[in-house]
Amino acid sequence: MNTSRTDTTSEEPILLEQTVSTIRGILEELHVPATLHEPLFEGNEWKYLKDCIDSGWVSSVGSYVDRIEQMLAAYTGAGRAVAVVNGTAALFIGLKLAGVEPGDEVLIPALTFVATANAVTYCGATPHFVDSEDATLGMDPVKLGRYLNEIADSDNGETRNRLTGARIRAVIPMHTFGHPVDMDPLVELCSRWGLTIVEDAAESLGSFYKGRHTGTFGRIGILSFNGNKTVTTGGGGALLLNDEAEARYAKHLTTTARRPHKWEFFHDMLGYNFRMPNLNAALGCAQLERLPSFLERKRRLAERYAEAFKDSPGVRLMKEPPGSHSNYWLNALILNEAVAPQRDALLEATNAGGIMTRPVWTLMHRLPMYESCPRMDLSVAESLERRIVNIPSSVSRSGS
Ligand SMILES: *Cc1c(COP(=O)(O)O)cnc(C)c1O
Repeated sequence: MNTSRTDTTSEEPILLEQTVSTIRGILEELHVPATLHEPLFEGNEWKYLKDCIDSGWVSSVGSYVDRIEQMLAAYTGAGRAVAVVNGTAALFIGLKLAGVEPGDEVLIPALTFVATANAVTYCGATPHFVDSEDATLGMDPVKLGRYLNEIADSDNGETRNRLTGARIRAVIPMHTFGHPVDMDPLVELCSRWGLTIVEDAAESLGSFYKGRHTGTFGRIGILSFNGNKTVTTGGGGALLLNDEAEARYAKHLTTTARRPHKWEFFHDMLGYNFRMPNLNAALGCAQLERLPSFLERKRRLAERYAEAFKDSPGVRLMKEPPGSHSNYWLNALILNEAVAPQRDALLEATNAGGIMTRPVWTLMHRLPMYESCPRMDLSVAESLERRIVNIPSSVSRSGS
């Protein structure tokens, strides 16, 4: 039965059945799984894993860790990369490097995965929520600038929240679904206020802003290699750093702060066992070799979606912001406010039709542990929360 309507009023319902069949057609045509994002192993994964097992180097020592760090530094243009157990641990260490201390506040988007907020909390600091921009889905630097003028004081090179008295130490821009935040005005704003940027580039390996890789704009950036990300190590993450001494310190902190010695166990500070195991790094090296091909195929899928939805009433595909080159990690349909009330019907129809779709994360200030955290007006993030539907985005199984 076809329940679609053809009039074009602004309240026109989304053509549910048509949307399901459009997505299904594209997935079949490009050989893309109907799940949100699943990994693809088509390169040297088996070979490198076998090498780890045959050599016995599976854990905290082995050459693949060095290799993945070199590959990441070379690809992103960061001076150095330090591989760790996951992206959340990388964020936590990144905030420590930025000097975040208990009682501090850290500005983060309300629209993010919970790891961004949790890493702040692990430091004993408080997340302070910032609104998003429609064009990028990320932090809005202009609105943040206006807000800081209202609520913050700059004294002795430190920024204080006048309302809470807390020091605001750092800012975590997050590149949502791989679409870069508008970094130029944000970098300028942060230098004016003396705030350290810790970039959450967990979703944006392969995404560039004005030709520069995301995660390399501040002193510190982080990546994630979770199973649902563009490149996976099973579980893993990395810090991107531009300073050699800072990288050495990050390595020290994430490897139990053990002083190098032939046999002695001497740890000169409180360290963490956050090193990426060699087995995971081996998988990641094989995956990174495939990254250019993955990105090409992800872009082709995004282009097909954009084309298919370009005349759809009430719905558009999120596309890369001007001046940016996105990895299209997760494709997102953005509904007009007028059809936002039908988001759940769209989720129902697609999932019932065997096509995995999901709403965006619940905004951070709605989660019980973050309800009372400081925040600015979040009207854009709140609107986006009602209007985003993520659709299947894995790398196409055909093509090279
Ligand atoms: C995936 C992700 C992380 C880190 O996740 P891990 O699973 O710990 O690797 C952090 N922030 C964002 C926005 C993410 O999407």
